[in-house]
Amino acid sequence: MTSSILPTYNRTPLSFVKGEGAWLVEADGRRFLDMTAGIAVNALGHAHPKLVQALSDQAHKLWHVSNLYTIPEQERLGDLLTEHTFADRVFFTNSGTESAELAIKMARKYHAEKGAAHRVEIVAFEGAFHGRSTGAIAAAGSEKMVKGFGPLMPNFTHLKWGDHAALEAAITDQTCAVIIEPIQGEGGIRPVPEQCLKGLRDLCDKTGTLLIFDEVQCGMGRTGRLFAHEWAGVTPDIMMVAKGIGGGFPLGAVLATEDAGSGMVAGSHGSTYGGNPLACAVGTAVMEAMLEDGFFDHVSRVSGVLRQGLEGLIAQFPNHLEEVRGKGLMLGLKCKISNLDLVRAAQTQLMLSVPAADNVVRLLPPLTLTENEAQEAVSRLSHALETLDAGA
Ligand code: PLP
Repeated sequence: MTSSILPTYNRTPLSFVKGEGAWLVEADGRRFLDMTAGIAVNALGHAHPKLVQALSDQAHKLWHVSNLYTIPEQERLGDLLTEHTFADRVFFTNSGTESAELAIKMARKYHAEKGAAHRVEIVAFEGAFHGRSTGAIAAAGSEKMVKGFGPLMPNFTHLKWGDHAALEAAITDQTCAVIIEPIQGEGGIRPVPEQCLKGLRDLCDKTGTLLIFDEVQCGMGRTGRLFAHEWAGVTPDIMMVAKGIGGGFPLGAVLATEDAGSGMVAGSHGSTYGGNPLACAVGTAVMEAMLEDGFFDHVSRVSGVLRQGLEGLIAQFPNHLEEVRGKGLMLGLKCKISNLDLVRAAQTQLMLSVPAADNVVRLLPPLTLTENEAQEAVSRLSHALETLDAGA
C-alpha cells in the first residue's frame, strides 16, 4: 500500500490505537509492553489521568494566544523549572531541534554582546544527536544526516569520544561553546563519566566557554533525577530540554543562567507556538507529578529491577549480548547479534524497544513502569533471545 507520507522513516507495520500506562493496544487488539515511551517522551506513560485532566481543563479554557502576551501557564512552568534547576531563565520551544537552534544562537549572541563576536566555534562530539535542523545536523556532524543537504553551517568541531587531550586543544579563543549530551541516546546509551563532565566544566570556566548540555533524551527524570547532570554535581550554562517535559504533548525548552541568556533581548528570538497554554498546562502537570515525594525513588527502584534482570540475560546469553549501559530508565543492551534482529524478535513477543547506534537496543520505558512490568520486559526479551541464533 502506498502512503501519502514522505518516506523518511522505515516504519514498522504496527498501528497503535490506544495507550494505557506502559501498554499500547494495536489496531488488531494485541497489547504491547511499551519499553520505548515514544523514544523517551511519554514519561508518565500513556493516558496518565493527571495529564488527561490538565489537557482537557486547559482545552476548555484557552488553547493559544501569542507570545505577544503574558501566558500564565508558561510563567508557572518557567518558575517550576528555575526553582528546581541551575537556571534563571527559560524559553519554551516545541521540540528538541528547536531547542538546539536556540542554544546555538544564545551561545554565539552571548559572546557577541560581550564584545567577542569572533567566538563562534562550537565543539561537539562524535556520535552525538541534537536534532534535524541545519544547525542541529551541523552540530552532530554525522555523514548520514548531513549528506546531500548542501553546505553545512560552519564552525563546528567534532571530537572523538573520551579524547581529553583533543578537547583541551580544541578549545581556543575562537570557541564559544561546548555542546554535549550527558548520556548519548541515539549514539548508543553512552554516559559521559562524571569526572569528565567535571573536567569539562572546569575547562569551560577557565576559558570563558559556555557549556551546553543536551538533556533532550536523558533529562526530565529519565535517570532517576530531574536532570542527568545532577549525578555529576556540575551544572551547564545552557540546557536543551524536550521529549519528557511534555509527556507526549509537543513541548521543549532552553534553560539558561541569567548571564548565559543575557544576549537574548526583545526581538532576538521567537516562536509562534513555543510555550502555548495547552503545552504548558500539560508540562506543569508533568513537572508536578515528578516533584511528588518518591517519584525519583520509584525510577531508581524499577531501574534496579530492570538492570538486574538485564544483567541476568547477559549471563544467560553471553553469545548474544555484551553489556548493559546507562542509568535509571535509560538503559541500553549492547548486542553481539544484530540489534535490529533483537528489536524485531522482541516485537514478536509483544514488547517494543528501539535501536540505537553502536549495535545497541534501547529501553526507555515510561518512568511509571512497575517492578512487575520491568520483570515482564526481561522475560519477553529472554523469549526473544531464545529465538535468535547467536552463530548466524
Ligand atoms: N537532542 C537529543 C539528545 C535527542 O535525542 C533528540 C531527539 O531524539 C533531539 C535533540 C531532537 O529532538 P526532536 O526530535 O524533538 O527535535
